[in-house]
Amino acid sequence: MAVRDFDVIVVGGGHAGCEAAAAAARVGANTAMFTQTLTGVGELSCNPAIGGLGKGHLVREIDALDGLMARAADAAGIQFRLLNRSRGPAVRGPRAQVDRRLYREAIMALLKDQDNLTIHQGSVVDFKLVDNQNFLIVLEDGRSFCCGAVVITTGTFLNGKIFIGEKSWPAGRMGDLPSVSLGQTLVRLGFKVDRLKTGTPARLDRESIDWNRVGVQHGDEKPELFSSLSSGVANPQVSCGVTYTNAETHEIIRRNIHRAPIYSGQISGRGPRYCPSIEDKVVRFSDRESHQVFLEPEGLDDGVVYPNGISTSLPEDVQADFIRTIPGLEHVRILRPGYAVEYDFVDPRGLKPTLETKLIGNLYLAGQINGTTGYEEAGVQGLVAGLNAALRVLRSEQIVFSRSEGYLGVLIDDLITQGVTEPYRMFTSRAEFRLSLRCDNADERLTPRGMEIGCVSEKRAEHFRAGQDQGRRLTQLLKQRSLSPSEARAAGLPINLDGVTRTAFAILSYPDVQFGQLSAIWPEFCDFDDKVAQKVEIDAKYSVYLEKQSNMAASLRRDESVQLSVDMDYDAIPGLSNEVRAKLRTVRPGTLGQASRIEGLTPAALVILLAWTKRSELAAKAAVQ
Ligand code: FAD
Repeated sequence: MAVRDFDVIVVGGGHAGCEAAAAAARVGANTAMFTQTLTGVGELSCNPAIGGLGKGHLVREIDALDGLMARAADAAGIQFRLLNRSRGPAVRGPRAQVDRRLYREAIMALLKDQDNLTIHQGSVVDFKLVDNQNFLIVLEDGRSFCCGAVVITTGTFLNGKIFIGEKSWPAGRMGDLPSVSLGQTLVRLGFKVDRLKTGTPARLDRESIDWNRVGVQHGDEKPELFSSLSSGVANPQVSCGVTYTNAETHEIIRRNIHRAPIYSGQISGRGPRYCPSIEDKVVRFSDRESHQVFLEPEGLDDGVVYPNGISTSLPEDVQADFIRTIPGLEHVRILRPGYAVEYDFVDPRGLKPTLETKLIGNLYLAGQINGTTGYEEAGVQGLVAGLNAALRVLRSEQIVFSRSEGYLGVLIDDLITQGVTEPYRMFTSRAEFRLSLRCDNADERLTPRGMEIGCVSEKRAEHFRAGQDQGRRLTQLLKQRSLSPSEARAAGLPINLDGVTRTAFAILSYPDVQFGQLSAIWPEFCDFDDKVAQKVEIDAKYSVYLEKQSNMAASLRRDESVQLSVDMDYDAIPGLSNEVRAKLRTVRPGTLGQASRIEGLTPAALVILLAWTKRSELAAKAAVQ
């Protein structure tokens, strides 16, 4: 057998790569991360912000499994906001504007601090299977390294091509070379690839903006950090500017639309529908007279401003013309034009729920290469792929996260079951168990699983146990204290005068009752940590619904426990239509639950699959006897 240089090699140092490498190393695998440039490790290719709606949940889940993103965002955060604060806790999304340089530095510091991990500069051009259990990774400079599992996380770099108006050239992103040979290797090995595109706005010189002509958006007075291990903000906090496009802006864009690569036919890949370019917005929402533009500083000591909302690949002269019609930007200096990048992605339906490819064992794919968009979506996939690559090599184990456990389970199941036709981004609406998959309880959902497989530090485990203990004690206390309706009314609580004495926990379930009102009555409630109290309050308010969701989750788990063979010969199963057979062949579901989520798979087809599986199992048992 070949001698291994490393247990796991991760290709790429973006958000998926960093999480994959750190996760593999945390469970004890001797891990190497190879990336094109060390300066690009942890680079935020587009906006300098982490989190947001749906995405904030992913960051908290990464943190619950001791990943990097939350801690790095807290270390680099220069403005924190909890989005949807006025709406229910299930859909709130923590978001932070971060200092681009500080973020990279924080990620690098966390990686350097990680045992079992080395970081190398080098472009991977090829990989080969040397025997059934080992790969040889080949670098551009001729070096090669042997390992037991590989995680590929090349983002927008596979056959990447940049577009600005009529100009285009091969690149992974501005200033970086594309990954062409590695793309060819994947195609040669039989992977199904297709094209997607994404884009970014021009960057502006802070000094040339007339800040008196734009609105101001402040961060939250009481910032909500991402990591449960962070104790306070690390940097001075800044405000963002807010301005708007107008009829003149739209007119310039409309007049030049034939020069935009997505409309001139130069780009064939689909872009992110929920994050459209300004030319897309002007065409698709032609009745809108203006669109909001946030002016986000890229850092504390950085003179660059990111104008969020006007991503574009129009020619540079058109960009300058339309940007200067926007209030506050009349005399703006453009430091770098906006651009679009088109790249190859691999059809994620060829992946298992561990992110291992069905085609080649011990090979994992994570991040934008799987058709997603966004740092958070990439990070969480990296984490899952890295854990599984390490577990495969070290212990022949795998870990799968279900849809009822976290947004990470939802994301992976959506990808591997539905595939993608446009860059996939996370939304809370994608999860069926929203009330139980909240940002505030990510630790409770996932840290115990992390502790089981050994990817969580003792510090985090200790912190988690202490928080759980406090939560239990507070819940118990709330259930021991009670008030009659008249006592409650006397204390200003809106309780019916129905003669029923209620526990403090029952009173807290009322939508108009706040925890602070109860701690004014029972001062011992003040002894508990704010975050613990907040979580217990949400649990009390949603206890009835949470019970319903937990029954639904149990039924999902039953379906997930029925394993289907991915090698099943669907043509041999009588009663399935050709259309259903074709859908099954594309996805090759691993469980009955996954099969049930394939669009167009009827309940009747599921019953046939179940009966066939049971019959095959009985036949296999009989053959053994
Ligand atoms: P990346 O962050 O792209 O990292 C890939 C890494 O792989 C890099 O470190 C690269 O150097 C390395 N690499 C590539 N090939 C090789 C090789 N052969 N050998 C070694 N290393 C290699 N996201 C949004 O959510 N909204 C947006 O509006 C948005 N706009 C974007 C606009 C642009 C122009 C770009 C480039 C990206 C945009 N993104 C956007 C996407 C966001 O940047 C990605 O989703 C995220 O960075 C993906 O993370 P990743 O780890 O998969 O890949």
